[in-house]
Amino acid sequence: LGIGKVCVSSCASYGSPAPTIFSKVIDKSIPADIIYEDEKCLAFRDISPQAPVHFLVIPRVPIPRISEAKDDDAELLGHLLVVAKNVAKQQSLDEGYRVVINDGKHGAQSVYHLHVHVLGGRRMTWPPG
Ligand code: AMP
Repeated sequence: LGIGKVCVSSCASYGSPAPTIFSKVIDKSIPADIIYEDEKCLAFRDISPQAPVHFLVIPRVPIPRISEAKDDDAELLGHLLVVAKNVAKQQSLDEGYRVVINDGKHGAQSVYHLHVHVLGGRRMTWPPG
């Protein structure tokens, strides 16, 4: 990192990965129920909720998947978790909730823009399917 370089959303570079549906959520060219946003990330309700409360937290920078995240992005990755817990509180998930990141084929990832799922409002089961 050069002296004076400001790292706003991501220190690492991800080139120009194929845009996903979440790029359109970020640029607001498709509607989404956005419940939180800041300069680094957005949180919005999942279009196919798997629990009474189910939202996603995504970085603005298009990191395709957690396994491709750069070590330099530790601060951004931490920020996503901080936002996840703050929005969970805002959504009154006082009895707890589940935080999930699916990665790749075996993780059953379907959208290749990193996202943190937060599910709550019912008791989850374990192990997951
Ligand atoms: P994953 O399977 O972990 O990649 O999760 C992708 C999630 O994105 C799924 O839970 C989908 O229901 C959700 N999803 C896909 N398109 C949209 C959209 N336009 N708005 C909100 N959620 C979406």
